[in-house]
Amino acid sequence: MLLGVDAGNPDLLLRWSEDGSLPTLRALRARGMTCRLEGPPGCGDDGTWATVYTGVSPATHGRFYYRRLRPGSYSLPSFADGDLCHEPIWATLGRAGKRVAVIDVPKSPLPATLNGVYLGDWLVHGRDHAAPVAFPEHFARETIDRFGPAPESLCGFSQPSLDAAGYDGMLERLETSTGMKRDLCLSLIDREPWDLFFAVFKEAHCAGHHGWHLHDRSHPDHPPDLAALTGDPLLRAHQAIDSAMGDLIARAGPDTTVIVFSALGMGPSRGLARLLPEILDRLCPSHRPQVASVRRLLKPLAARLIDLAGGRGRRALRRIAGAAGTSHRAGQPAFSIEPSEHVSGIRLNLAGREASGLIEPGAEADAFCARLSRDLLDIVDPETGERLIDDVVPIGRLYAGPLLSHLPDLLVFWNLSRRATSAASRKIGLIRSPAGTPRTGAHVPGGLLVAAGGGLEAGLTAPPRPVEDLAATVGALLGVALPGCEGTPLPGTAPGGPIG
Ligand SMILES: [Zn+2]
Ligand SMILES: [Zn+2]
Repeated sequence: MLLGVDAGNPDLLLRWSEDGSLPTLRALRARGMTCRLEGPPGCGDDGTWATVYTGVSPATHGRFYYRRLRPGSYSLPSFADGDLCHEPIWATLGRAGKRVAVIDVPKSPLPATLNGVYLGDWLVHGRDHAAPVAFPEHFARETIDRFGPAPESLCGFSQPSLDAAGYDGMLERLETSTGMKRDLCLSLIDREPWDLFFAVFKEAHCAGHHGWHLHDRSHPDHPPDLAALTGDPLLRAHQAIDSAMGDLIARAGPDTTVIVFSALGMGPSRGLARLLPEILDRLCPSHRPQVASVRRLLKPLAARLIDLAGGRGRRALRRIAGAAGTSHRAGQPAFSIEPSEHVSGIRLNLAGREASGLIEPGAEADAFCARLSRDLLDIVDPETGERLIDDVVPIGRLYAGPLLSHLPDLLVFWNLSRRATSAASRKIGLIRSPAGTPRTGAHVPGGLLVAAGGGLEAGLTAPPRPVEDLAATVGALLGVALPGCEGTPLPGTAPGGPIG
């Protein structure tokens, strides 16, 4: 049984399991092993989840973030199900005769066929599909009829902050959705003895993005009066999940190997990644200055119009904005890719690889990257003089795989020690951060794994492991080889029997 806590902060999971706030996790830790997890460098939830459920890195499965650079073009369409280049473990396990139940694993593709059931985008944070999808198809409708549609979670990117009653309502709905997922999962566990039962809870993710300032007293926007009324939204969401997981683990029975994990964390939002497009415009100006200046003038207006428009109008405006972005990137020597909130990507407009490449590969590209990296590392927060960027790393130092050339060429690791609203250097002058999201929480790298049963050592605390090891462990537990899997099974993993 694989239970995911989407965007659970590993430090909080450790602290709250130790102080008894999360009794299920505490009990699981007492009889199993605990270790931190490391996601693919630079990835937000899309790339991290795809790595969890395939067991290979984004350089192999291709989902680095929520968009995808269409090869040989400058267009960045949303990542679609068919773009994934490595199959999820449930497909391989199913073909090997294993029965699988897959419930709301975020950012995962709807399977055309499966030896079991798949439900996606029912109670998740951040949907790939407009409505829940399932295999078999009727499973989505049946689930909604029996357990209800997703309660509104008020956790969108533009969602304004709430008052005490608003937060309370939001948390009540998160508790409701946790209970809905628990009830569906219990009914499935009762239905048949699954070989793999994989379900993910989304509520820590929602509470984290919009409630981090209420949880974190050191946050610059922490409102003590409001926090006294709301309590800690993160704790409340985690406790609801912990209680639901306790019910599932109990129903699955004592012989079930259980892995509870979070693959990507949550922390205070620093808003730094938003600075990169303007920084690049200044460090390596566009070869099409007219397109660049018209776009600069119209961009804030377009964003406002997209916000105001509804339905078809919004889709049309997005298409126009997308085309303007495509045309702008074609004129830039290098352009930004936004894989996550803690790391930005830079893609070189490389001759021979891009449609109208501006930089020759080889010595010219190397010199360009070296100069750009130096210029980026010179940038400081004008208020504190502190460097805004910790490191700029060529992608080949972090990843290897057949789709390496689809990824950004450089990753920019922002200094996350404090919030900054502007950037300055001799070359860029002064840049103020554009208005961003009202969200106070943002993803930070790192997760946690707690696993018990199947021969895993009790009470063991192990060194950090890559998230690819989750898939490898499931394959080893079920005795199924996962071709190409880049992970290693946890120590002590032994094959187990069916669940429930
Ligand atoms: Zn998120
Ligand atoms: Zn959400």
